Amino acid sequence: MKRPDTLSLQTRLQHTGSDPFDPETGTAAVGLPPKRSSTVRFADLAALDRAYQRRRAGERAITYGRSGMDTHRALEDVFTQLEGGAHTVLAPSGLAAITLAFLGLMGAGDHALVADNVYGPLRHLDDTLLKKLGMTLEYFDPTRPDDLAAKLRPDTKLVYAESPGSLLLQMTDIPALAQVAKAKGVPLVVDNTWGSGYIYQPLALGADVSVVAGTKYVAGHSDLMLGAVVSRDLAMGQRLGAMQYALGYALGADDAWLALRGVRTLPVRMAEHARSALRVCEFLASRPETASIYHPAWPQDAGHALWQRDCTGSNGMLSVSLKLDRAAGRRFVDALRLFGIGFSWGGYESLVQWVEPDGLAPHAYAQAARGLTVVRLHVGLEAVDDLVADLAQALDQAAG
Ligand SMILES: *Cc1c(COP(=O)(O)O)cnc(C)c1O
Repeated sequence: MKRPDTLSLQTRLQHTGSDPFDPETGTAAVGLPPKRSSTVRFADLAALDRAYQRRRAGERAITYGRSGMDTHRALEDVFTQLEGGAHTVLAPSGLAAITLAFLGLMGAGDHALVADNVYGPLRHLDDTLLKKLGMTLEYFDPTRPDDLAAKLRPDTKLVYAESPGSLLLQMTDIPALAQVAKAKGVPLVVDNTWGSGYIYQPLALGADVSVVAGTKYVAGHSDLMLGAVVSRDLAMGQRLGAMQYALGYALGADDAWLALRGVRTLPVRMAEHARSALRVCEFLASRPETASIYHPAWPQDAGHALWQRDCTGSNGMLSVSLKLDRAAGRRFVDALRLFGIGFSWGGYESLVQWVEPDGLAPHAYAQAARGLTVVRLHVGLEAVDDLVADLAQALDQAAG
């Protein structure tokens, strides 16, 4: 038997957050039950004193429902293991986790450099809150580390990227960006929702903080909202924990429990999503309507070499540009029966999202999308032959 810290991540995911044995009966459930409570009772004042001493020493102590109970501690441990970090802070959604990273690491008047292909609602956060706080977000081209180097300023306090990027799934050279940021002592934060710690680990590639929408693959069943901010360094994690406390972010115990339950099957779900997505790529490549396929595990993808270097697996996300005008593109999407039209992804079901070309990053990709229909697919856990047949009949209907 190996030592616990040398066990593979797949094994550790099955054993983190188990129900502890009852010292009296010597029995336990398998999984930790959801512990719901708004407040915490202390046996005596000495117990309260001990909890506060631990908290002051920077340790985790259960003192009040808002900062979470045992179920939340177990879920934090899962994210810490997934991302290979030192400290995890939970948030009530992925976007809340992004907000937490910006507010925790930046001050009024500071400047941040943000990759231009990140999750779209970050721009809404910028416009509605960060600008009001006097923060300036400037966008850079993540395919060019020299663009990042040229735009770094003395007041730059944060570099933020996402890999692969939202919508067109371009792989980013995180080690190259980390090198540029590190040379100026600026922390690099990476949105790792795509990898969810299981197939991609930005912290091991040089990032300081990984932000994950647990809503997607970690929870895996499209039934809850969840975010996590995982730090490589304990002190930075504690700084983010202080901001979480100030914001009053709380996650329901039932949602934490559902995420713990969902994450046990992350390894097998990811493998199946990835296998099916590659089959869908093969099918799409065989169709005359297909202009480009965007899926880092697909050998023809522009980021395939980076994917081979930095990732240990893939998932069900792919985008495709089709030689269909707008009307034919709309016929195609409406004809799909198994792909639901919807945002988000990472659940068991297949989804299609219409991508407006002007919503894409300003560099090369918008050019590539002109006059084409671009859709993002989430390939779910349905039998892949059924999914391929559905895409085939929808493409046939779009033409006719
Ligand atoms: C969905 C998503 C988010 C936001 O997560 P929510 O839980 O929906 O708020 C952040 N980043 C990426 C890359 C996402 O896909």
